[in-house]
Amino acid sequence: MTAEIIAVGTELLLGDILNTNAQFLSRQLAQLGISVHFQSVVGDNPTRLESVVRLAMQRSDILVFSGGLGPTDDDVTKQTVAHAFEDELRLDEEELAHIRAFFTAWGRTMPKNNEKQAYVPVRGHKLHNENGTAPGMLFETKQGGKWAVLLPGPPAELQPMFLQEVKPWLASLTDCALHSLTLRVAGIGESHLETKVAHLLTGENPTAALYAKTGEVFIRITAKAGSAAQAETLCRAFAARFYDVLGDAIYGEDEETLAAALVHALQKTGKTAATAESCTGGLVSAAITDVPGSSEVFGFGTCTYSNEQKMRVLGVSSETLQRYGAVSAETAAEMAQGVRKAAGADLGLGVTGIAGPGGGTKEKPVGLVFLAVACENKVYVQKLLIENRTRDTVRRFSAKYALEMLRRLALSLPQPGCQAFEAGAPAHISDGQGPRDA
Ligand code: AMP
Ligand code: MG
Repeated sequence: MTAEIIAVGTELLLGDILNTNAQFLSRQLAQLGISVHFQSVVGDNPTRLESVVRLAMQRSDILVFSGGLGPTDDDVTKQTVAHAFEDELRLDEEELAHIRAFFTAWGRTMPKNNEKQAYVPVRGHKLHNENGTAPGMLFETKQGGKWAVLLPGPPAELQPMFLQEVKPWLASLTDCALHSLTLRVAGIGESHLETKVAHLLTGENPTAALYAKTGEVFIRITAKAGSAAQAETLCRAFAARFYDVLGDAIYGEDEETLAAALVHALQKTGKTAATAESCTGGLVSAAITDVPGSSEVFGFGTCTYSNEQKMRVLGVSSETLQRYGAVSAETAAEMAQGVRKAAGADLGLGVTGIAGPGGGTKEKPVGLVFLAVACENKVYVQKLLIENRTRDTVRRFSAKYALEMLRRLALSLPQPGCQAFEAGAPAHISDGQGPRDA
């Protein structure tokens, strides 16, 4: 089986950007035992692109394209390949909704242009893009035996799409078995995590790659072998090396969410938790109650948004609110202890912050969030500064960090990035401790 890589984009020809996608794809295809005989670069020009496609179809089995799937008029890959592969494009409502949702998440409305990205092949398949708006595509010739894989240009979109959707399919074409395992890490930012495990990210088989999510990072390990069982054994052995470095920062594997890991930790230790949320507005309790069986360990969650309710329901003192403000370490600590007491739970959580876009000041900018967890005799407080993010991201990020603090408390693990206080003592975060950069 032979392949050919076709990178599309005038910016590549002008030397404005380096063709790193070709390098990534060549390496990946080599790992699968697929011979890459040609790499080409062509500008955003339909005529020249078509001639490259026709030539490639004569000499290679699989054509892998990068770029030119964007919403603007110069993005022509899809139409040109559809034509050469005698396929057509149709508007896909599900993709359109996905693209719209992407804009909504960033607080913007979708420009009309982007509708173009929701067109997918009629005979071929679309490839899901978790990290951007443009779906990928897979075309096959009518008589079969030749394929075109179209991937978006931005490496942050191309790489996960290739690893998650294309690689397993190519492996099935070439008779080799792949197995993947995802390790889920919370409480550590992506760049910090990367420096810790950099030496494990360069292997050829198994491979490992990091995927940053809001407030957590996934490590995806993939191994290739003659059988699925052998590939799984390779993955498991490689995962052990990540556990050696990261230990209990890995909260779960594959599909286990952070909230599920928390619920399981509470079940295992026979503890109960209660939550008092302000800026996250119930996201933490929603995540916990999403987990089947959570009612055994979670009976009380409040959204105490106003100062009045923080005092009334949680017993936060008016003096604390006046002196330090609603968004302060002191208030978060009193919320955590107050809700623990009100619920008669073993553990309490308090979240208070400025989600924006308004309401920030120089001293207390948008993205400043205080998280506190309390057990019988201790309170742990963490200060986050989640800068330059949307309201939605600040809230979801904070909720993840809150869940992780609760999980660690349930398992009596250390609380990195937190300051510890005796229960009932004022929770002053000393100025020496800078905010945790998110
Ligand atoms: P496009 O899908 O052609 O609109 O490309 C979008 C962006 O992806 C470009 O502006 C580049 O930043 C990046 N990109 C496109 N092609 C490549 C490539 N071959 N290698 C690395 N980055 C690329
Ligand atoms: Mg382009």
